[in-house]
Amino acid sequence: MSETTETIFSKIIRRQVPANVVLEDDVAIAFTDNSPQAPMHILVVPKKPIPKLDDAEPQDAAILGHLLLMVKKVAKHVGLNKGYRVVINNGSEGGQTVDHLHIHILGGRQMKWPPG
Ligand code: 5GP
Repeated sequence: MSETTETIFSKIIRRQVPANVVLEDDVAIAFTDNSPQAPMHILVVPKKPIPKLDDAEPQDAAILGHLLLMVKKVAKHVGLNKGYRVVINNGSEGGQTVDHLHIHILGGRQMKWPPG
């Protein structure tokens, strides 16, 4: 596992930086992206600071499963009943810019493929 560093998401989790929180529980927090790429753009972030998907270990399986179930809950909560896209950017070529694992939920418009 690569070295864990402090990120803006840790500060949001600790409420040191404000965010528009959509849902939260003991394991994860969901808040709106501050540079939305769709009418609805929400990030689902584990409270454990796993830097990226590649750093997840077998003991993180329950967290990873929890995140996907939270995605479903968030999507329902905000009314994305016509569908949505789920994205995890992993590492530099994956387009990851914040080194704290997170899942993007993008919705409210027709998504295209390939995503680019
Ligand atoms: P990545 O590129 O790592 O997959 O996604 C990071 C996301 O975090 C980007 O979509 C970016 O807009 C969002 N982001 C970065 N800093 C902040 C912040 O301070 N607050 C919020 N709400 N989103 C942020």
